Amino acid sequence: MYGMIATWRMAFEGVTKGRKVLEDGGCAGDAIEIAIREVENFEFYKSVGYGGLPNEEMEVELDAAFMDGSTFDIGAVAAIKDFASPISIARRLSKEKVNNVLVAEGAEKFAHKEGFERKNMLTERAKIHYYNRIKEIKEQEIKPYSGHDTVGMVCLDSNGNITVGTSTSGLFMKKKGRVGDSPICGSGFYVDSKVGGASATGLGEDLMKGCISYEIVRLMKEGHHPQEACEIAVNTLDAELKERRGEAGDLSLIAMNNKGEWGVATNIEGFSFVVATEINEPVVYITKNINGKCIHEKASEEWLDNYMKTRTAPLVRR
Ligand code: ASP
Repeated sequence: MYGMIATWRMAFEGVTKGRKVLEDGGCAGDAIEIAIREVENFEFYKSVGYGGLPNEEMEVELDAAFMDGSTFDIGAVAAIKDFASPISIARRLSKEKVNNVLVAEGAEKFAHKEGFERKNMLTERAKIHYYNRIKEIKEQEIKPYSGHDTVGMVCLDSNGNITVGTSTSGLFMKKKGRVGDSPICGSGFYVDSKVGGASATGLGEDLMKGCISYEIVRLMKEGHHPQEACEIAVNTLDAELKERRGEAGDLSLIAMNNKGEWGVATNIEGFSFVVATEINEPVVYITKNINGKCIHEKASEEWLDNYMKTRTAPLVRR
């Protein structure tokens, strides 16, 4: 049995490629790297890789991580600038014995030495988003950080190896040097091939408070189905945050276990995700949390059409 699950509709093309790798007998490490690179390279996805939205100084600083659930190899980069494939750099770092997590100039120096492709990741379109947001913030009380998403994936290959990967530009208008949950082991991702893997998207500062990806894998290890594990972890953290702090940020989680069973939970209205298995081609679902239970529905043709249209629609500077 092989399979992949990923956060957001934007993962669809990547999961399609990744599934092909698995179908041809490829390993979970290669499949996830190819799948995430596909998302990083598509300039119209404005929260990952090329075309990602910048920090408050109009620089695109990217976070990414890779974990191999069989060897427990972990590699991550944070606040890295001007490199095309953060996920590949993270995977490369996972092979090192030490120095597995590198930030900013340190990560860039490593990537340069290892021959990774340099690229200016700030697109003209991202600049327009930046200038428009500056204007909106001045005009109305709009939240500066809205407009962020991470691609997070869990991948099981037919030899029973499970990997997890993340890649993101983090919060739009974040402070220079801000690091979210995505490159933080246990928060943005966790995987154990004996059990399963999980990955997160949403407000990193809140996701970290529950080490929520680790928590889901722990619940699966205790015997919970991935769906149950995701719901317990998301509902519990959401309630704890509201009780202690009066509010909870966005929390959306995906998981897959070593049998290819999967689960998804969210505390937001309409979280989209993509699932592919040996039996099923990639499908986009949208989930809603109704009184603690997450109900998944296939995205309609209309929703899918509209998604691409809005992503690629011409953008003008206001
Ligand atoms: N979790 C990411 C971060 O806080 C953003 C997101 O997934 O929307 O950097």
